[in-house]
Amino acid sequence: MHRVPRPHNTRFLSSLSSSSSSNAYNALISHAPRTEHGNGPLKGVNVAVKDNICTKDLRTTCSSRMLADFTPPFDATVVSLLREAGARVVGKANCDEFGMGSLNVHSSHGPVVNPFRPSSGSTSPPRSAGGSSGGSAAAVAAGLCDVALGTDTGGSVRLPASYCGVVGFKPSYGLLSRWGVVSFADSLDCVGVLGRSTEGVIGAFDVLNQFDLRDPTAASQELRTQASDLSQSSWDGDIKHLRIGVPQEYFPTELSHSITAPLRKVLTALKKKGATIVPVSLPRTSYALSAYYVISSAEAGSNMVRYDGVQYGHRVPPPPGSDWTKTARVFAHTRTEGFGREVKKRVLLGTYALTADAFDNYFLQAQRIRELIKADFDEVFTAPNVLRPSSSSPSQPTLTNDGQGVHVLLHPSAIRTAPLLPSASSTTSAEGEEEDLSSYVQDVLTVPASLGGLPALSVPAGVAQSGSSGQEGTGDEEDGDGWPVGVSVVGQWGCDRMVLDVGRAVE
Ligand code: GLN
Repeated sequence: MHRVPRPHNTRFLSSLSSSSSSNAYNALISHAPRTEHGNGPLKGVNVAVKDNICTKDLRTTCSSRMLADFTPPFDATVVSLLREAGARVVGKANCDEFGMGSLNVHSSHGPVVNPFRPSSGSTSPPRSAGGSSGGSAAAVAAGLCDVALGTDTGGSVRLPASYCGVVGFKPSYGLLSRWGVVSFADSLDCVGVLGRSTEGVIGAFDVLNQFDLRDPTAASQELRTQASDLSQSSWDGDIKHLRIGVPQEYFPTELSHSITAPLRKVLTALKKKGATIVPVSLPRTSYALSAYYVISSAEAGSNMVRYDGVQYGHRVPPPPGSDWTKTARVFAHTRTEGFGREVKKRVLLGTYALTADAFDNYFLQAQRIRELIKADFDEVFTAPNVLRPSSSSPSQPTLTNDGQGVHVLLHPSAIRTAPLLPSASSTTSAEGEEEDLSSYVQDVLTVPASLGGLPALSVPAGVAQSGSSGQEGTGDEEDGDGWPVGVSVVGQWGCDRMVLDVGRAVE
């Protein structure tokens, strides 16, 4: 069994048994005053917003002590667009601190509890909602909102969607505005949408999918049109003409056997509808996780520098009598107190990767791997990558065994079902190291699409059932536990509509 790191705030867990409020899952950490819905395509839709996305008049803490009292004077573009379309923001959703984590246990507000209950009705100990957008996924699963905004840097929308049994979509990098979204790793950060159905996610995505002049990384209108034209000319929308690739590298040894049965069911159903299933290979996949953690930590280290106790947020004044000119002390004390353990670890790792001694072997190497991973994707898709026109060769995809390429890829979203939340006493610091590493492994199937900037959708595919995989037992006690399993649909950059249409066919 994979263990998970000890939560920041364990008092919440012990109070769970006595709690019966609608927020028993700790999904929403602040509630907006009730207002009327506006008019527009999202009239009547209630939305929860991840707490690293700025909301006017509502605190935006990023689940960090560092920003415990920060209330932005503006809405992020994505929030303004939802409000203008008639949606009502119901509150802010708990998350891992600054989006760093896979299990929503690194939060100053305490961990999020997965609202799912298996049909066996067994009362098992609380499980993780996944992270870092765990509050967003749990709020949707518990019916506290219709749709939720999350952010996905390396899987933070798709993993919690998979664990909670809801739909989670990470659009192509650059399509949804990041203006007003607190940066974690800028070259990877995407705003994502969670909902109970693909249809609900499409409704919000259509409103949000707009060029924003204020976001310097926004994809131009020209690129968007070019990609969507290519997407439409590569697939006419008929399932009978759809070619789906199943990448062999997405079945690593860490994958729980009970995950494969629901995936096989989905593939069988799509085949019945006339789709062609093609085995494909993305040979550089196994390097993705290491490259992701080097790149994202390096960018995080740089982004976290702004929390210095002077310009932003929490501030620890120097001890009485000390030299006020030594602002470095304010910086150090503020950051020691303001950041949680995981954020500090990423800052140290990222800073190290950027030092002169380590730069070539870590940071540059990770960037090279990122390019190779993008090249792998470009060689399986029928549609070319409009962001890399010279390197993609759409007429000859070489990594499919029949040389024809595929429209989308389909694979498990996660290696397992939701892990148990740890009890306050279960962790010693020696185990902590091992647990942190095993929590990084949760991302192994989601980070490749993030490095490629590709659209990726996790759709519920049923629950893990024991004895249905046709394979020997794994010794994993959570095998076949009746908890949700998600499958992911991934497409070429800009083929977001295609990915969502295939998601609808999977549901
Ligand atoms: N779990 C990954 C990390 O901790 C991804 C986080 C995210 O997508 N925000 O870096």
